[in-house]
Amino acid sequence: MHPLNFDNRFVRELPGDTDGFKLPRQVHNALWSEVQPTPVADPHLLIHSPEVATLLGWIEADIKHPDFAQVFGGNQLLEGMQPYAACYGGHQFGGWAGQLGDGRAMSLGETVNANGERWELQLKGAGPTPYSRRADGRAVLRSSVREFLCSEAMHHLGIPTTRALSLVATGDGVLRDMFYDGHAAIEPGAIVCRVAPSFIRFGNFELPASRGDIGLLEQLVDFTIDRDYPELQGDTQAKRGQWFLEICRRTAVMIAHWMRVGFVHGVMNTDNMSILGLTIDYGPYGWLEDYDPMWTPNTTDAQGKRYCYGQQPYIGHWNLARLRDALKPVISDASVLEAGSQLYADTYSATFGEMLAAKFGIRELSDEDAPWINGAFELLHKAEVDMTLFFRNLAEIDLQNPSLEPLHPAFYRDDWRQEHQQAWESWLVQYCQRLQQDELPAAERRARMNAVNPRFVLRNYLAQQAIDQAAHGDNGMLQELLEVLRRPYDEQPVKAVFAEKRPEWARHKAGCSMLSCSS
Ligand code: AMP
Ligand code: MG
Ligand code: MG
Repeated sequence: MHPLNFDNRFVRELPGDTDGFKLPRQVHNALWSEVQPTPVADPHLLIHSPEVATLLGWIEADIKHPDFAQVFGGNQLLEGMQPYAACYGGHQFGGWAGQLGDGRAMSLGETVNANGERWELQLKGAGPTPYSRRADGRAVLRSSVREFLCSEAMHHLGIPTTRALSLVATGDGVLRDMFYDGHAAIEPGAIVCRVAPSFIRFGNFELPASRGDIGLLEQLVDFTIDRDYPELQGDTQAKRGQWFLEICRRTAVMIAHWMRVGFVHGVMNTDNMSILGLTIDYGPYGWLEDYDPMWTPNTTDAQGKRYCYGQQPYIGHWNLARLRDALKPVISDASVLEAGSQLYADTYSATFGEMLAAKFGIRELSDEDAPWINGAFELLHKAEVDMTLFFRNLAEIDLQNPSLEPLHPAFYRDDWRQEHQQAWESWLVQYCQRLQQDELPAAERRARMNAVNPRFVLRNYLAQQAIDQAAHGDNGMLQELLEVLRRPYDEQPVKAVFAEKRPEWARHKAGCSMLSCSS
């Protein structure tokens, strides 16, 4: 394998704990702990992302090298790797949870590619760390397939996210309580190698702040600015202020994208919020099928619905307020901290507003558009309409000869006409009148809409089918899904089966519509 150029700044410049002792413990005065992956029985590469391999400077021969599965299964280290687990805390479901840390993730190091880009490599599921608490540090195949596919799918949708290099089956079994019947079962283990410029989370700052360790907090803040936000200018205080504002801005943009495509993260705890504004920690996430703002894929959140689709913009704001609280001791200008909240709200409405206009194929939104846009979302909900299919097919409406026909494949209920046809007909009239006002040429309107309304998303039941097949040793669907999701805005007519609405059998099936945190 071609060597990578490692430059491990996080462990070189920040205080760590190098006791080499793995038992679960509270780690003080340190931002990371030295760890080693625990070897696995028989690592096999199941799938990799060619784009991420290229980012690192690798070619196909590197991926095919027998050492590849050994390294990314945790049995071997490459020259220059220095594994560590990060120490962080977080607010979980609205309450402070204390120290959490990387319990089943470990970073291998930071590589710098030929373009000078820094990419940190991190294994998820490579064995216990001091932060594993009562759990095993392992990950099962189903959750690893979900993380691998979704992070690449999100990237190709144009959404800021961590990436995935590889998915390796370990050959070991992992014991899990099956959430839907309470029985314990041995499942196949797997490890994803995720890749991002940084895996630092809001929770990395919250933990030292909660302990009153302001020295450690300042070190981490200034390190993050220096390494990950080199464009910021001015003295230390000026940079810290701009940095917080930039995090608010990026978080707003990221969540606007989630709302655009119907992505529900499922566990927006502050330990799952990236300091770079990347989508991170793919667990019990899901995609809206029939449009429902109250929908959450996370069974752990089924009652409170704190992290349901419609709450996400508000939760982003709440999480930034927790980061603000943590940063108070190190940012002297309190007005900057308050400005972040406004910047978040303004950025979110401007960004999502532009996205909505593009989704509906109009030039710009104005207040006069609110009634028919709200009307569309109400009808989508009431009539059980697939969000992805609705918007994609909306571009097919012919202004010369308007009809609901192109939208029919998006309806989940055969009897929708009885209750909702009239309402939809009158909505269509309003919509077409609005389109006429803009006088956009049809081809231009269609292209504009198709650039923001994907044909393909990682539908919950498709991910589950790929998992079921992979568990039986068949990677075919996994490969095929990755292929399709690399070009989500292209029609790909031969792949039309992957664009269909959820089949009825999947409506209430475990894995297809509901998931738990424990994986
Ligand atoms: P999550 O819900 O995946 O964001 O995880 C919350 C915390 O639990 C983090 O500190 C994780 O590292 C830890 N955790 C989750 N699953 C495991 C596991 N299988 N082994 C060890 N730690 C885990
Ligand atoms: Mg997490
Ligand atoms: Mg419903």
